[in-house]
Amino acid sequence: MDFDTPEEHELLRDSVAQFFDRELPEEQIRAHDQARSIPREIWSRFAELGWLGLSISPDHGGSDADVLTGAVFCEELSRRFPSLAMDWVLLSMTARMFREHGTEAQKAEYLPRLAKGEFIMSFGMTEPSGGTDILSLTTRASQADGEGGEGGPWTVRGQKLFTTFAGDADAILVLCRTDPIENNKRARGLSLILTPRQQPGVEVRKLELMGMRAGGTSEVFFDDATAPADALVGERGRGWYALLSSLDEERILSAAIYVGITAAALDIALQYAKDRAAYGRPIGAFQAIQHPLADVATELAQIRLLTQKAAWLLSQGRECARESAMAKLAASETAIRCTDRCMRVLGGYGLVEASPLERLFRDARLGPFSPISNEMVKNFLGERMGLPRSY
Ligand SMILES: Cc1cc2nc3c(=O)[nH]c(=O)nc-3n(C[C@H](O)[C@H](O)[C@H](O)COP(=O)(O)OP(=O)(O)OC[C@H]3O[C@@H](n4cnc5c(N)ncnc54)[C@H](O)[C@@H]3O)c2cc1C
Repeated sequence: MDFDTPEEHELLRDSVAQFFDRELPEEQIRAHDQARSIPREIWSRFAELGWLGLSISPDHGGSDADVLTGAVFCEELSRRFPSLAMDWVLLSMTARMFREHGTEAQKAEYLPRLAKGEFIMSFGMTEPSGGTDILSLTTRASQADGEGGEGGPWTVRGQKLFTTFAGDADAILVLCRTDPIENNKRARGLSLILTPRQQPGVEVRKLELMGMRAGGTSEVFFDDATAPADALVGERGRGWYALLSSLDEERILSAAIYVGITAAALDIALQYAKDRAAYGRPIGAFQAIQHPLADVATELAQIRLLTQKAAWLLSQGRECARESAMAKLAASETAIRCTDRCMRVLGGYGLVEASPLERLFRDARLGPFSPISNEMVKNFLGERMGLPRSY
């Protein structure tokens, strides 16, 4: 077993920290949070730095880094700006989707554009009526007849909810029913249709969330939206299974977001405990301040190890469904507990909007519901432990 941190991970952490110090300081992050947007130029800059191509192969303009490197990057990004990390995870999932399920033409078209920051895609699965029960979805897509027996353009009709990044996206990968349910299996007959966002049939309404405001998530209405004949990603009727293949990576990278939030909260609270004086001593001299910080440091080490182990397993091509689910569950719950403890160390200052901890506290609250609710993660873990399926 080797717990030494590879030098390239340290270098990556340093370059992310330097980027924020130089180009995206806290005041600007706060302004983006208040404006509820991330300017597209940030993605262009990430592309120049090679950070959009981390999970893309060199022949498509990327550097083919493994998931462990992605998790380290995501943690460091989230330490400063969690909304940005959340959107980066979606870019990474987009790369995986095309890499594993795209046609050669789709790979050649979208992966280089993704690496250059010229293409953003959202994932539209959740619907207002179903929520967690995604398979109850009612959005439908049908394909017109094309020439020479080929399929023609697609028409998409329905509504999605919590479609992250949809406001900025060039296209939305919409999970739709295209074919009847087979053998009572609701997962069959669903397809992924890459639907252009800028068109009269697509309306995006941003939801005002309490956290991760700069990235943001939306309701999306598809009113006979059209998609080209080659918009199907993966096999027709097997869209759900294509999504399942990306779940471990999504959970690991999401866990890394909450490791980053916890690490940032600890940095801020620790510094405050050293700087702030009361009764003639730094408040960090009081046990009532030291103990919660010791707890936060301990829990941070636990979730970082769990996340890195899951990422390492996936990077080795090994089974990690249990570990990635546990990492997402533990990291998201820990971030809530630990931002709360750190807020108390800051006293009233923690509640002031100018304090970065106020933003991290709000951002942490989204973890238990995204990309999957922690109740569903526990259902999955229960089943993995040999208990009957509960849903
Ligand atoms: C910030 C954010 C970003 C998101 N981004 C995306 C995205 O990009 N694309 C996308 O498609 N979706 C996205 N989602 C949707 C997310 O996956 C859903 O919020 C999540 O699946 C829960 O659905 P719901 O919020 O409708 O809760 P509901 O389904 O209404 O559930 C309410 C509560 O009941 C619990 N519950 C429901 N069923 C069970 C059960 N069987 N057992 C135990 N508990 C249960 C839930 O865990 C939850 O606590 C995002 C959500 C958030 C909050």
